[in-house]
Amino acid sequence: MEIRKGIAVSPGIAIAKPIVFDSKDFRIPRRSILASERMGQVKRVRNAFSEAINELSNLEKAQSMDEGKIKDIFAVHLRFLRDKSFRKRITDFVCEELTTAEYAVSTILREIASHFESIKDSYISERAADIYDIESRLLTTLLGEAKQEVEHLTDEVVVIAHDLTPTQTAGFNKTFVKGFATEAGGRTSHTAIVARSLGIPAVVALEDVTTNVTSESTVIIDGNRGVVIVDPDEDTLEQYRKYALEFLRLEHELNTLRDKPAITRDGVEITLLANIEFPDEAAIALEKGAMGIGLYRTEFLYLQSGNEPTEEDHYDAYVETIKVFQGKPVVIRTMDLGADKLPHINRHHEEPNPVLGLRSIRYCLQNLTMFKAQLKALLRASVLGDVRIMLPLVNNMHELRQTKMIIRDIMEDLDEDAIPYNPMVPIGIMVETPSSALMAPLLAKDCDFFSIGTNDLTQYTLAVDRANEHVATLYSTADPAVLRLMRSVLHDANKARIEVSVCGEIASEPEFIILLLGMGVRKLSLAPPMIPEIKQIIRSVTIEHCNRLARKVAGMDSQRQIKNYLRDAAMKILPEAF
Ligand code: PEP
Ligand code: MG
Repeated sequence: MEIRKGIAVSPGIAIAKPIVFDSKDFRIPRRSILASERMGQVKRVRNAFSEAINELSNLEKAQSMDEGKIKDIFAVHLRFLRDKSFRKRITDFVCEELTTAEYAVSTILREIASHFESIKDSYISERAADIYDIESRLLTTLLGEAKQEVEHLTDEVVVIAHDLTPTQTAGFNKTFVKGFATEAGGRTSHTAIVARSLGIPAVVALEDVTTNVTSESTVIIDGNRGVVIVDPDEDTLEQYRKYALEFLRLEHELNTLRDKPAITRDGVEITLLANIEFPDEAAIALEKGAMGIGLYRTEFLYLQSGNEPTEEDHYDAYVETIKVFQGKPVVIRTMDLGADKLPHINRHHEEPNPVLGLRSIRYCLQNLTMFKAQLKALLRASVLGDVRIMLPLVNNMHELRQTKMIIRDIMEDLDEDAIPYNPMVPIGIMVETPSSALMAPLLAKDCDFFSIGTNDLTQYTLAVDRANEHVATLYSTADPAVLRLMRSVLHDANKARIEVSVCGEIASEPEFIILLLGMGVRKLSLAPPMIPEIKQIIRSVTIEHCNRLARKVAGMDSQRQIKNYLRDAAMKILPEAF
């Protein structure tokens, strides 16, 4: 039995056999196989070779005569792949070392490449690059099989990976994928956010977890405590089966709160809205008791298909969402692409610091055709319900004014074509950088609402990458610096009499709710599965108690002290959640 501690990012317990997603961009970990699985792995090596030979032969044929240099490269690769002794070294390794095909390919090819690199003849040492290319081609085939496997599952599994993209996570079939664990990521990385929205238990930041499992392992993913257990003993397994049942019972009980208001014991009503990534989540959000959508992350429309959405793609997705929440607010955020949310196909060049680079509103303002298609669809959809437009990562007045000017231009075009839209559609911004928090009094004059994006606000205030597991312990929204900025934004919004909500992950963390209420927050937007639990906390407290607690926190100077204090307070209210 091996117990690993990571970061809990999505609650729940999953117990199943693992399926491992390796990535050819990272080292392939050694994973043992049973002697009985040897022939299966050897066959996979052979198939990968045949496929690579076919692909290269076709590519070689497709090259014209004047592209002789490329043809030569293909010929060299083909010579290697057709060399039976080369393939035999790999299959022998599988049989002798009892490891997966991926590990054998990667180990043997890297051995050969480093041997070439060590030779002081430039012609030979340059051949190392060819070997890495061949490795990459073979691994693409082998790893592609795992991805196909996950698309055609017939049994329950947990997915173990170095990292997953938000799109991969969103594509999991929830009937069979019961949980996931990754080596990379942080609590507010977008993969974690998608897991929470889908209600899949998940743990991230688990160093080398991919090396610990074999296809025969049993894995427990405890998304409440941030623990992954490989090959648990009988007692542990039994204990976890009980936890899982208890978790389901609690979930069931909380679901009965669906039609009850989120009202404190002293009668203050809190608006609970949902964060969604896909239109089909709207129905789940309604089912969980959401009073509207507070954040629709529309960039997932792009990320899911890998193609730039057309105006009609946008429009159709918005109609689907608005229909579910007839008459209730639906806040649609324009595409927040970039950082960990930009499809590679659109990367013209790698950015050294993508989080500080061309992302969000900056990206949209430099890709106007794409941006205008979305804004036009949004305006057309604005007559169908209580639609509101939200702009991500607005950092200064100029970005806000520029965007509003574009919106006005599109309104004029719609007027010319007699297409209806709501000329008074509310336009708000995410406050998620220190700059926008400090400029809040001025930004508030030019927009209709704020939503505090604590995920990015924490990242930019503390200069800590939200998705980087190596600095995950430094990333904390409970940091007094972040809380100070939040307090000042809430104050500025109230003074300007504009609506303000909190839509970062803090809004779905039970221990933060009392603090947020005490700081004056009355509107929260969070992952749909978390709504009942947060409602339960709200219904168990008085605002007076929350105010007292918030005043106490305001006098504390360390995130650790604040976190411990909040946790103790929340545990007294809803012990089952911890
Ligand atoms: C945030 O930054 O807090 C937020 C809600 O937006 P996202 O997580 O999509 O960046
Ligand atoms: Mg953000």
